[in-house]
Amino acid sequence: MTLNEPEAAVELELSDWPESTRSRHSDVAGIESGHVSFLPKGILSMGYKQAGGCQCLFVRYEVTEAPRLVYTCHCTDCQRITGSAFSLGMVVGIDEFKLAQGELSPLLRTASNGQVRKRWVCPDCGTWICNGNAHPASPSEEVIRVVRPGTLDDTSWLRPTVHFWTRSAQSWFVLPINDLCFETQPNNVYAFFASGGKEV
Ligand SMILES: [Zn+2]
Ligand SMILES: [Zn+2]
Repeated sequence: MTLNEPEAAVELELSDWPESTRSRHSDVAGIESGHVSFLPKGILSMGYKQAGGCQCLFVRYEVTEAPRLVYTCHCTDCQRITGSAFSLGMVVGIDEFKLAQGELSPLLRTASNGQVRKRWVCPDCGTWICNGNAHPASPSEEVIRVVRPGTLDDTSWLRPTVHFWTRSAQSWFVLPINDLCFETQPNNVYAFFASGGKEV
């Protein structure tokens, strides 16, 4: 296990997406992609929308489509940012995440490649809600947003099926059989997310 990964975390790559992928739209989540199904069976019949929010209830949001994929990231940046063993991410279309109440504050960070990244948090309790360059109420050129799915009201259906940076995963973490695992991350993680995991 490497304690100091030189690379940027997965969510820190999102603003690097090439123009060619920005207009790409994936099919509805839940479909089979190669050898792995990215969502538990039955999720498409749950219906959306899903609601969530921060710990102090100031921030509330809605998600109006099934996620394109749910993943874990075991990079050392995510371990440090979360103070935990890994982060969870849920990829949804940029217009499918709507702030319903409260406000989000950006936390800026300069990644190893010099680009500035944003994490959107509750200004009162600090709960990390999502990533993305644009404020959720502002127009954005991006096509997806990564939401921290542990902030959903109902997390009972959550099941990540893609795992990034497994080479720095905690030794006790057992990777689920048949899930899609990356020792690091796809070369173009933006395209990977936007395509619902089809474009590696
Ligand atoms: Zn990470
Ligand atoms: Zn809060």
